[in-house]
Amino acid sequence: MNPVSHALPYICGIHPYVPGKPITQLAREFGLAPDSILKLASNENPLGMSPKARQAVTAALDGVERYPDQHDLLAALAAHHGIRPEQVVLGNGSNDVLDLVARVFLCSGRSAVMAQYAFAVYPLVTVATGAECLVAPARHFGHDPHAMRAALRPDTRVVWIANPNNPTGTFLPQTGLRDLIAAIPQDVVVVLDEAYTEYLPLAERIDSIAWLDAFPNLVVTRTFSKIYGLAGLRIGYAVARPEIAELMNRVRQPFNVGNLGLVAAIAALGDHLFVAESYDLNRRGMEEIVAGLKRLGLEHIPSHGNFVTFVAPDASRVNRRLLEQAVIVRPLGGYGMPQHLRVTIGREAENQRFLAALGKALAS
Ligand SMILES: *Cc1c(COP(=O)(O)O)cnc(C)c1O
Repeated sequence: MNPVSHALPYICGIHPYVPGKPITQLAREFGLAPDSILKLASNENPLGMSPKARQAVTAALDGVERYPDQHDLLAALAAHHGIRPEQVVLGNGSNDVLDLVARVFLCSGRSAVMAQYAFAVYPLVTVATGAECLVAPARHFGHDPHAMRAALRPDTRVVWIANPNNPTGTFLPQTGLRDLIAAIPQDVVVVLDEAYTEYLPLAERIDSIAWLDAFPNLVVTRTFSKIYGLAGLRIGYAVARPEIAELMNRVRQPFNVGNLGLVAAIAALGDHLFVAESYDLNRRGMEEIVAGLKRLGLEHIPSHGNFVTFVAPDASRVNRRLLEQAVIVRPLGGYGMPQHLRVTIGREAENQRFLAALGKALAS
């Protein structure tokens, strides 16, 4: 006998998350110098971290013997969003706050609704509680509000929505999203994951946090991993009604965000110049890459994030040919999209290198 046979059956059924291949791993596998490798696989900020955040992290190295205190970041986020600190829950990345929602509201005998091709962490955190995933068919690779509503069951306790969605880059505009949330019973938690909201033009951006007044069941999540360039420090957060935030904080590890992440996030939040530069670089890079894909005759899904997903004939072979040229993109077989590859928008020279490598990969 061994304890493996006593593992919870729903844990055994989990398909582990497959991250973008790390630079260090490709370097080991192919015997490449790490700095010769171009990684455009995990929607990381090609500009690195904000200089202000870097300064804050350096200064905070004195003090890492102390346990962290979340007070100042909670206050900064409350001021930034015009809400109360009791409405904010910090996470070790926003993946962590998704897990907190699942642990508060899901268990076996309950279900959660999500869209086909939605972010892979939703099924992971759902299944880890023993709850069931109800997958609503996508429409043009995006959330279909009608199908999402039809998927609801009496035992549904959470609805996961990514807007914009990863890995498809699709976006549900304000009216359609609001109508969908309004159609969900108010005792069902709606998690609105807005990891890429800062990449939307101002005119398209949704003030979803203001919707908390109308929808007490809403939980909005944001991250410092994308436009703020702090993916490796692991900081994200949820904004909700205080009663929901309080429940999530009960299951949160007390020190889930480290000292360096806390100070970096405060500095990054105030570095408007860096955010604006990151936004502009992404706009220009998106145009370059989309134009390049068209030149190569490849179809893509119009994207509202910092990445674009395209169809590649024999995608796994193209992916291999790109790896041989030290270019890492993201294959999407795990999402049920084996014909697609996802590329993160880089700096101009990186985008050109990717397009040249892709051209070669298609020709060889
Ligand atoms: C990248 C991403 C996140 C952020 O994850 P972190 O844990 O904050 O790094 C959340 N949701 C989606 C849809 C993402 O693509």
